[in-house]
Amino acid sequence: MKTRQVDRYIGWLLGLCLASFLFVGFFLTGQALAQTQQRNLYVGCEGEDVARLQNTLNLKGYYCGPADQKFGVKTQKAVLALQQENACRVDGIVGPETRRALDAYQPRLLFEGCTGADVTRLQETLKERGYLTGDADGKFGPETRKAVLAFQKANSLEADAIVGPLTRQALAQYKETHSSVVSSRGGSEPMRYIQVLDMKATGYCPCNQCNYPWGGRPSALGLPLGRGIAAVDPTVIKLGTRLYVEGYGEAIAADTGGAIKGNRIDLCFDTHSEALDWGIQNVKVYVLPD
Ligand SMILES: [Zn+2]
Repeated sequence: MKTRQVDRYIGWLLGLCLASFLFVGFFLTGQALAQTQQRNLYVGCEGEDVARLQNTLNLKGYYCGPADQKFGVKTQKAVLALQQENACRVDGIVGPETRRALDAYQPRLLFEGCTGADVTRLQETLKERGYLTGDADGKFGPETRKAVLAFQKANSLEADAIVGPLTRQALAQYKETHSSVVSSRGGSEPMRYIQVLDMKATGYCPCNQCNYPWGGRPSALGLPLGRGIAAVDPTVIKLGTRLYVEGYGEAIAADTGGAIKGNRIDLCFDTHSEALDWGIQNVKVYVLPD
């Protein structure tokens, strides 16, 4: 009688082990599948995965313009440069090999005296942003130094003429002004928009209290937190969308939040007291054209 009970117990244990093995096996296979299931991206592709790619390219110094979710010629140019410089097949298509190269690529600090393709990319971006007039020759000389200093000063960065993560991030952050949009904080209606949403808006700031447990991290789209960043439900407003929020001004949908579901929007302010001052307001949110 007793031995039969022990047998049953051992059988039960073996069954449990088998079940755990199967479970872990399925789990790992599932993860591997999820990793390989990323689709290839190329000219014409659209979507959040394109925006994520664009953000990563920008933050690594392969500047490709605003993360607009559309894989256009600028994104292709950045991808081609990445492939060329990192010994990938140069086809402009982002597949596993190019993704690995992008993941592995760590941009270096750039300063006067540096030369290389990364300097050329920096110079092209500075030219595009109106800070550099000379040729993009891949040589970080006095003109490039002057341009970087001017850019850093204009963007409230430490003006040290060294291009590191913060300057790269700022270079990647395009805040184009559209003359058709009334950007005063008065809450006037913009003249051109795609859609108007009635939303309940709260405020937050970059502090730990507002971002627990993600304090110190950039927004979901990789942009630094501050005024102009809005957290949204990505199923309601696509990340990367430009918005005009009544009483707040222009914002980019660049963040998400656990409580931000449906017609809720969380507006980022530079300071905690500004966020508190905002409180909770029902506002009209205008979805702007790209
Ligand atoms: Zn705060």
